[in-house]
Amino acid sequence: RQQEKIRNFSIIAHIDHGKSTLADRILEYTGALSDREMQDQFLDSMDLERERGITIKLQSVRLPYKAKNGQEYILNLIDTPGHVDFTYEVSRSLAACEGALLVVDAAQGVEAQTMANVYLALDNDLEILPVINKIDLPSADPERVRQEIEDLIGLDASDAVLASAKSGIGIEDILEQVVAQVPAPSGDPEAPLKAMIYDSLYDAYKGVITYIRVVDGSIKKGQKVRMMATGKEFEVTEVGVFAPRPLARDELSVGEVGFMVASIKNVKDTRVGDTITDAKRPADAALAGYRRINPMVFCGMYPVDSSDYDDLREALEKLELNDASLRFEPETSGALGFGFRCGFLGLLHMEIIQERIEREFDIPLITTAPSVVYKVYKTDGEVMSIENPTHMPPSQKIDYVEEPYVKASIMVPNDYVGTVMELCQTKRGDYVDMRYLDANRVNVVYQLPLAEIVYDFFDQLKSGTKGYASFDYEMIGYKASKLVKMDILLNGESVDALSFIVHQDKAYHRGRLFVEKLKELIPRQMFEVPIQATIGNKVVARETIRAQRKNVLAKCYGGDISRKRKLLEKQKEGKKRMKAVGNVEVPQEAFMAVLQMD
Ligand code: GDP
Ligand code: MG
Repeated sequence: RQQEKIRNFSIIAHIDHGKSTLADRILEYTGALSDREMQDQFLDSMDLERERGITIKLQSVRLPYKAKNGQEYILNLIDTPGHVDFTYEVSRSLAACEGALLVVDAAQGVEAQTMANVYLALDNDLEILPVINKIDLPSADPERVRQEIEDLIGLDASDAVLASAKSGIGIEDILEQVVAQVPAPSGDPEAPLKAMIYDSLYDAYKGVITYIRVVDGSIKKGQKVRMMATGKEFEVTEVGVFAPRPLARDELSVGEVGFMVASIKNVKDTRVGDTITDAKRPADAALAGYRRINPMVFCGMYPVDSSDYDDLREALEKLELNDASLRFEPETSGALGFGFRCGFLGLLHMEIIQERIEREFDIPLITTAPSVVYKVYKTDGEVMSIENPTHMPPSQKIDYVEEPYVKASIMVPNDYVGTVMELCQTKRGDYVDMRYLDANRVNVVYQLPLAEIVYDFFDQLKSGTKGYASFDYEMIGYKASKLVKMDILLNGESVDALSFIVHQDKAYHRGRLFVEKLKELIPRQMFEVPIQATIGNKVVARETIRAQRKNVLAKCYGGDISRKRKLLEKQKEGKKRMKAVGNVEVPQEAFMAVLQMD
């Protein structure tokens, strides 16, 4: 039976260990792409992913493979993102698989995200096949890494394939292991249809395209189906597979991975994680849904041009469709007008959404500084969740404030342990544990406020350890902290979008740095602009932007016309990202400046 010849698997790895390169080699080896079509990192299809060298959206591809035993197999490779912000997407794609290749760099060894990914794979009961990659590197030490996989992860690594995705070594062995060790899908072909939506995409012509894994039964063109969570029914207009380009088929049967189109015009009618069933012969119960992940970082997104507001809403709705972790709701700011409060998994996630809105939807944005969610216990007994510093009640009404904490594991070579501990200390961390992984690597564990991590912790960690540290974290809950709200006044008026929440001990320092930074960033205006940082009614720092002395264009009169045009062009460029706050022009960078302040 065909079902026994299907293998659904993912590749998991710490970032940069070679997952995308290995996926490319596998595509090449199975002949899924002609040479002409072959371009590096096919699975990383979004422009942004290519530029940043990261994988954000999961993609899948169906590969025919003739094994050494002479049998033809169908391998469905489902790509997963590697960054710590995207754990949720990893677990979504893993739920569609029976096995995972665990790629470990032969020089770097097991890293923090190697561990995190292994836990996710184990949660999904996957068969894990270790692959030791980059054995071509002079610094490769495959035997040490094999030992690490056994000691740190507890997997039997005696059969781990030694591979070089770059030079194409070990690819056949890997595929043979997939065929031999990853179980075939176990669903019942006669049972009522159950298909899991693991991703989706909006197409202007076809409507919502759902990416599905058929768990039981089969799905055909013309079939009437029901979405079990929303109860909405549709007629299937198209099913197909990714080969790797979309290829229409009459039917997807049990165990298969592919796509379904059903003239679904409303983005809200399909949910990632929902189960599709037959409308006439529905299944009794839906498949276990995905764990819903709450966003951890919030910021305001405002169109630079307020007439883009509706387009921005539409863009967010479309992005939300295949990004279950993105949240947004309308908000208004005194300074910035109408916009949205958006929730993200982390800073990278936030940056990517922002860039996609600007590039794919062509909407210039002003983004406010990110904030975590604080719990405010008021003196009258009320407990508030504050995701926007503006909504912080006045201090006399606050009993105490709690902030989210994470447990961070940092793996680092011996020599940098001091640097890492110092960094954690300045980020208000509480030391938990330190353990030697081998003779020269250490796992350092700290509890840290999430707010400190979302700022520039990762960048500082990387630069402080010359890129050698790897890092992963998990939420552990809330703890009381001495936090205060800092307000910023421009020209005597409080600018809500510049407010931020800060630990008391750091407040003066940050306030001072912030006003200095603002003075640098805000261009001179026709009049003098005082900048003040205040806590309650107390001014903690003050700077003044002096007035512009003369019109820059004046000196061009009678002079070089092209120079004048250039100046105007340049001003227009700058204007794009300026927002008039009261009568002061404030550039985008000012709203984010609070991030670069340690
Ligand atoms: P990902 O982040 O896990 O997807 O990693 P990539 O596939 O993007 O690879 C990260 C870097 O490692 C790239 O510069 C690759 O060219 C390089 N790389 C991947 N596999 C190998 C390998 O087998 N040997 C060597 N020397 N470099 C590799
Ligand atoms: Mg990649």
